[in-house]
Amino acid sequence: MEELRQQFRRHFPILDIRVHDKPLVYLDNAATTQKPVEVIDAESAYYRSGNSNVHRGAHLLSQQATEAYEAARTTVQHFLNAAHAHEIVFTRGTTEAINLVAQGLGKTLFQEEDEIICSVMEHHSNIVPWQLAGKNIRLRPLPVDEEGNLQLESYESLFNEKTKLVTITQASNVLGTITPLKEIIRIAHNHQVPILVDGAQGIKCCLTDVQELDCDFYCFSGHKIYAPMGIGVLYGKERWLEQLPPYQGGGDMIRHVSFEKTTFNELPFKFEAGTPNVAGAIGLKAAIDFIGSFGHDRLIRAEEELTQYAMRQLKQIQGLRLIGENPHKAAVISFLLEGTHPSDIGTLIDFMGIAVRTGHHCCQPLMDRLQIPGTVRASFAAYNTFEEIDALASALKQAEKMLL
Ligand SMILES: *Cc1c(COP(=O)(O)O)cnc(C)c1O
Repeated sequence: MEELRQQFRRHFPILDIRVHDKPLVYLDNAATTQKPVEVIDAESAYYRSGNSNVHRGAHLLSQQATEAYEAARTTVQHFLNAAHAHEIVFTRGTTEAINLVAQGLGKTLFQEEDEIICSVMEHHSNIVPWQLAGKNIRLRPLPVDEEGNLQLESYESLFNEKTKLVTITQASNVLGTITPLKEIIRIAHNHQVPILVDGAQGIKCCLTDVQELDCDFYCFSGHKIYAPMGIGVLYGKERWLEQLPPYQGGGDMIRHVSFEKTTFNELPFKFEAGTPNVAGAIGLKAAIDFIGSFGHDRLIRAEEELTQYAMRQLKQIQGLRLIGENPHKAAVISFLLEGTHPSDIGTLIDFMGIAVRTGHHCCQPLMDRLQIPGTVRASFAAYNTFEEIDALASALKQAEKMLL
């Protein structure tokens, strides 16, 4: 696995830079991953020799751009094992994908004071869009225990005749907890309730098959799996996407427009108003192909090994409290150092070259539940190394000494 990580790492130019005159130790991969040269080159090649608008031009460049954009859609289809390419809608990211579904269901499925089941560990982008969907929707969160495990015993009791949706993260960006999705989806469907999965973290740490999972919607962001920022995906079962109204109006999403009435384009174009992020989609395809060339399953194992090693190393630091100890875990470790504030730790180790994230990580309800102000979070990708984790551990010990 070490050999695999070293090979993988060589593709990421940014990992060779220095910060504060120290080698960069990038451990903020849950916020965004770095980009391999394959992705950077694919985007750059498109702008150098392929740039053109899609779906409209009579000319060759436009046809080629359209083909490349649609090839990216097919790559995503296969990556998720979706039944049809038209079930893949390109968005700006997870946030926009969830907003698209929330606005659509708000206008169709939801009635006044309906309920949505989520979990306490949702990211704000899987909370706030539902609050903005109208109809005074009430969120019913599934609790987590002190170790960060979902309390599935209470899941069934959250359903009632007002329940219209379950929306849940595939993996927590704070605790690392991986959700037992199959079970959660099966129970939702037993209650005839559709389910949306926030795959922003899960897409990297799990092999995802939307047909096997049988989820109704699945969302992810390219930038958390080595692709550019500004491109993401909404997967929806055909029958759900057919029912949803368009999210935004504009070019490309219409069939016929008059001042009296407009008819809409077929899937997926109904949801892709205006000029899309063609370069981003091409970059996303390059990232998925890149992952495939190493084997996604092997990259996952390489990350798991790093996470297990890091848990062992960090546990040995005096006064360090891990937040979230689920053994089945994404490559995310949150912790606190007794008597110190997360942001002080973050600032001090930044000067030692180590990039982590501190704060509430867009999960304020979870922080409230755990009664903590925030955490320090180290998160890994398959290009990280044991030496970098050792550097983190020794930096934390030094920071602790400086603060206590
Ligand atoms: C990052 C993240 C999001 C939001 O993704 P964007 O790329 O900012 O749209 C949502 N949910 C989880 C679990 C995340 O980690």
